[in-house]
Amino acid sequence: MGSPGPAREAAGAGATADAGLPFFRYHPDPVATGSVRASTRTCACCERARGWVYTATFYTAQEIDGPLCPWCIADGSAAARFTGEFTDSYGLDGVSRAVLHEVTRRTPGFSAWQDPHWLTHCEDAAAFLGEAGYRELARHPEALAELRSTLRLDGWHDENQLEHFLTRLGQGSATAMLFRCTVCATELAYVDAS
Ligand SMILES: [Zn+2]
Ligand SMILES: [Zn+2]
Repeated sequence: MGSPGPAREAAGAGATADAGLPFFRYHPDPVATGSVRASTRTCACCERARGWVYTATFYTAQEIDGPLCPWCIADGSAAARFTGEFTDSYGLDGVSRAVLHEVTRRTPGFSAWQDPHWLTHCEDAAAFLGEAGYRELARHPEALAELRSTLRLDGWHDENQLEHFLTRLGQGSATAMLFRCTVCATELAYVDAS
């Protein structure tokens, strides 16, 4: 999977909507996050070159000859044909079966150092907004505060060390993954480290 690219942030469905791509409730702008990019390659599922391909994780036991297109992700045909999932179900315990399947089988995943996972809020999956370093997080104080309290619970007791770690997010071997609740719009984040 390699390391994530430069910190990016997706405010809405901007680039993805502009490109006429399907709308993904739980990953509104996969072009901005880097999970979908322009390409002339042919989709391994529909066997058409539709101008865009998926670049991130797909867990399947089958051999797939080539990339998948966003349309075959959106309608579930890629997950069904190759019996695969775009995201591990880790962390999605509190959501309905329908939401679980939408996230794992019909939503583009994303690349990260650790196995990517989805955050939840209000008993629904949150929308993935993209990788965020400290500068981006500082513009999302809610997410930053949430991250700070999670890290304290995880055993970061030295406040200076904690702040030092947070301010270095996105610069080296750790970054944050930013989400927004699809129900109440609360912003959330988790730390991804190499
Ligand atoms: Zn396709
Ligand atoms: Zn919420």
